[in-house]
Amino acid sequence: MSRTFQLIAGHPALDFVNTLDYRFREAGPIELLASHADLLDFVRQSGLASESQRAALQGTSHTPAAAKALRSARELREALAAWFYAADDGNPARLGAVKTLERCFLDADRHRELAALRDRLPEPAPRESNNFLRFEWTWGGFENHPHLPVWLIARAAAGLLISEDTARIHQCKSAACRWLFLDMSRNHSRCWCDMKICGNRMKARRFQRRLKPEPSPSGLPAPSTN
Ligand SMILES: [Zn+2]
Repeated sequence: MSRTFQLIAGHPALDFVNTLDYRFREAGPIELLASHADLLDFVRQSGLASESQRAALQGTSHTPAAAKALRSARELREALAAWFYAADDGNPARLGAVKTLERCFLDADRHRELAALRDRLPEPAPRESNNFLRFEWTWGGFENHPHLPVWLIARAAAGLLISEDTARIHQCKSAACRWLFLDMSRNHSRCWCDMKICGNRMKARRFQRRLKPEPSPSGLPAPSTN
């Protein structure tokens, strides 16, 4: 059964960090990337991978390379989380996290290939022949590699980290939630990941507190799963 992710952040790298749900909860977080198949669902739903890419990678999900890719994905995610939360809380970024990010970004770049494409100019063409050669970055021989989702996420995260949008990265004001998002509101006033999600979480927690004092993690609402 495929997992459905709540993509509320406004950027896939932030939605990716949010896949460790209840990250700061005393009773422990909930891992939404429980398998390589979950990772594939994430890159597909967040628009980083096409449906054909996801389908091609599905067959690799039970290989040792897929297990390694899942570990790398979580490592990348935690380095991103360390960086983003430190930035939003006004703390210096940990050098270890920055080094991990650098390694992940370089690794993604190292697996790209430059491909020559014969293309056509839009009509009307300025010359007799309107064919021309151009180049584009592809994943070449790595298109069907189980690590591809990690590289796709790393490329997206690298783009965000070097942009001015980092100033708009904030966390949900709900202490239990703290999901990250990009605040693109004109007056920088967004407080919540999603009113409905956090509202529902609050309601569910209040309801469970009435039933029993210590709710088990499985008894809590897991809004990002199906
Ligand atoms: Zn929230």
